[in-house]
Amino acid sequence: MNKNVRKAVIAGNWKMNKTRPEAKELIEAIKPLAENAGCEVVVCVPFTNLETAVNAVKGTNIHVGAQNCHFEKSGAFTGEISADMLVELGVEYVILGHSERRQYFGETDETVNKRLKAALAAGLKPIVCVGELLWERECGITEEVLGKQCKLDFFGISPEDMRKTVIAYEPVWAIGTGRTATADQAQEACKYIRDVIASIFGADVAEAVTVQYGGSMNAKNAAELLSKVDVDGGLIGGASLKAPDFGEIIKAASV
Ligand code: PEP
Repeated sequence: MNKNVRKAVIAGNWKMNKTRPEAKELIEAIKPLAENAGCEVVVCVPFTNLETAVNAVKGTNIHVGAQNCHFEKSGAFTGEISADMLVELGVEYVILGHSERRQYFGETDETVNKRLKAALAAGLKPIVCVGELLWERECGITEEVLGKQCKLDFFGISPEDMRKTVIAYEPVWAIGTGRTATADQAQEACKYIRDVIASIFGADVAEAVTVQYGGSMNAKNAAELLSKVDVDGGLIGGASLKAPDFGEIIKAASV
């Protein structure tokens, strides 16, 4: 990570885990570990835990995120939650286009783009996930896939809004599998994403934008991944559910 221009963002993606009492307990355990963090610390919790989390982090440097939002402001969209509803709760971040949403819930680059515009308009800080399938990497089209996702997901976004958007490079084959990209693979992909952003929004926006790595990042491999100049933090699933492990990753991003 280039610390002169960017601050690492370490975000936990709790996925569909934790009841409200469990969420409170985990945040209480993370608090002392995040106290002196030299990076931005975010916990992206299930919708049912948002209010609990917002209250639990008051007075700390921990920020709360959701894991999705709808693109319409309101209306007949049963089961959905709008960006304004999140803001009203005190939520600051929202994950968009996670591969599990793309894989299991029909999320497309078009809907990610619409959700991104709604999130930015509401004042949320989006974390937009992009990444290739194993098959796509093996076929040698990782760059094409990342380029296409960036062009479509960020279509029509202003340079100012792009600066506020966090990009999470998440190779799908590394998510929840225990199979991490090597630090060099993560660097190569994050750098490529930054180059695509430069070609669309200009070099200054690309230098400022946060590009995280996500995919089985843990207490052991975080330091090496985060040592790479274009890896500006992490989106962490499994390891974010264990306070000591999440604390180690925060520490690795703070040096
Ligand atoms: C994720 O959910 O975004 C993720 C990277 O999960 P894990 O760390 O468990 O691979």
